Amino acid sequence: MTRGPLAIVGAGPTGALLAILLERRGLATTLYDARPDPRGHAGDAGRSINLALADRGLHALEQAGVLPALADALMPMRGRMIHARDGGQSLQPYGQRAREVIYSVSRHRLNQVLLEVAAAEGATLEFNHRLEDLDFTKGTARLRHVGRARDGAEAPERTVALQPLLAADGAGSVARRRMAALGLIAAREVDLAHGYKELTVPSGIGGAPLLAADALHIWPRGNFMLIALPNADGSFTATLFLANQGAPRFAALDTPGAIEDFLQREFPDACALMPDRLREFETHPTGFLGTVYADGWHADQVCLLGDAAHAIVPFHGQGMNCCFEDCMTFAACLDRDGALDDPQWPRVFAAFFAERKANTDAIAAMAIDNYLEMRERVADPRFMLQQTLALELERRHPGRFIPRYAMVMFHHEIPYATAQARGAVQARLLADLTDGIGDLGGVDFDLARSVIERDLPLIDVAGQA
Ligand SMILES: Cc1cc2nc3c(=O)[nH]c(=O)nc-3n(C[C@H](O)[C@H](O)[C@H](O)COP(=O)(O)OP(=O)(O)OC[C@H]3O[C@@H](n4cnc5c(N)ncnc54)[C@H](O)[C@@H]3O)c2cc1C
Repeated sequence: MTRGPLAIVGAGPTGALLAILLERRGLATTLYDARPDPRGHAGDAGRSINLALADRGLHALEQAGVLPALADALMPMRGRMIHARDGGQSLQPYGQRAREVIYSVSRHRLNQVLLEVAAAEGATLEFNHRLEDLDFTKGTARLRHVGRARDGAEAPERTVALQPLLAADGAGSVARRRMAALGLIAAREVDLAHGYKELTVPSGIGGAPLLAADALHIWPRGNFMLIALPNADGSFTATLFLANQGAPRFAALDTPGAIEDFLQREFPDACALMPDRLREFETHPTGFLGTVYADGWHADQVCLLGDAAHAIVPFHGQGMNCCFEDCMTFAACLDRDGALDDPQWPRVFAAFFAERKANTDAIAAMAIDNYLEMRERVADPRFMLQQTLALELERRHPGRFIPRYAMVMFHHEIPYATAQARGAVQARLLADLTDGIGDLGGVDFDLARSVIERDLPLIDVAGQA
């Protein structure tokens, strides 16, 4: 049995940032991942898959000192560019301040940088090692080497002590499923009825972007949508979100003719920018989406973090941001426990769960809400009026009225649960104020003031003055 450093399973964004934070506290870590080492190569068959990084993630990366190494990979996006059926485009800004932008970043590059920093801090990295089982009676984890050893022999299993083991093994977490099967925690995986497919908008001549490079592009089509995020090389990664049942649905797009008819009918302007769409559609996997709800994240010496504990649907662009926030909270709980030479892990785990659970439940719900907003509401004139009014109320009542999107994306100092609760008050107010009116001229700002001053206490947040 291997004894020694504490084990982190999963070297994705959560595991890698966690290793950095723990190493900095003098705790030796070994990161195990089932995949090969992503450092030193271009990534998934040259595909450029990106993620939206917002204030919560940026703040964590800044605190961990990782941000400077990523600076050249961050593509600012200042709003949503809405693509109507007739090809018209309109920008809906994310906020009214210069700092209210989000960033597109390559998933592969981000993971490489985090792992480089983790290794430089002293973490041991063990790739091609898959967690297979946890034995709480013996206090051990069983890992198997993926593939064969260099001499061609079947690689041996490895047993690692739970002293402790931090499981950051993603949405399909083996650790979570094992803990749930043993009755140590209760966990549910709730599938979304929609899946996704990634496509590419390549760059034009000389690497010039073919869409506005400072926006997140959305083709909202009611029950489905296409989005595209910019990459540093001038290309865009487009993602089609579509139902698994009903019409249209992925399963019905099963011939070149059906795929082409659908894409040309719904997104003719995007088709003109995606010459390889048919091959990509046929060869790229259809991804599943879902939410993980766990009523406990820890048992004995094992604790779940990141997607393993609370995977969410991607429509708020917050999954990874939330995972990074987990890492910061975990480190803060460890610091508060005050015994870095002999941490009382069960106590640290309990404090971490108590602090995070309400917040991860809140972002899970808001991420589901945001799907409806992106695929349908962004094209609705009343929604657009409410967005404009929200920005006006924010201008008139700084620190009291902050649009929910801004609370989630631009204010790491506002917990998700607070954003959700204040967002519900604001949504009711916006609905009341825009009932039966066509523009801001008809808004009863006195009523707005009285509700805001009564129901939305002043909060101290960055950049609101
Ligand atoms: C389509 C899509 C778009 C998204 N867009 C965004 C976005 O714009 N912004 C955002 O913030 N978030 C986004 N997310 C969410 C984000 O990808 C996740 O929240 C984030 O990757 C979770 O990080 P993690 O390290 O917890 O898990 P993962 O990224 O899943 O990493 C888990 C790691 O564990 C390893 N592993 C798994 N099982 C085992 C095992 N048994 N043994 C050993 N290793 C194992 C895997 O190889 C992997 O390296 C998106 C997700 C999807 C699906």
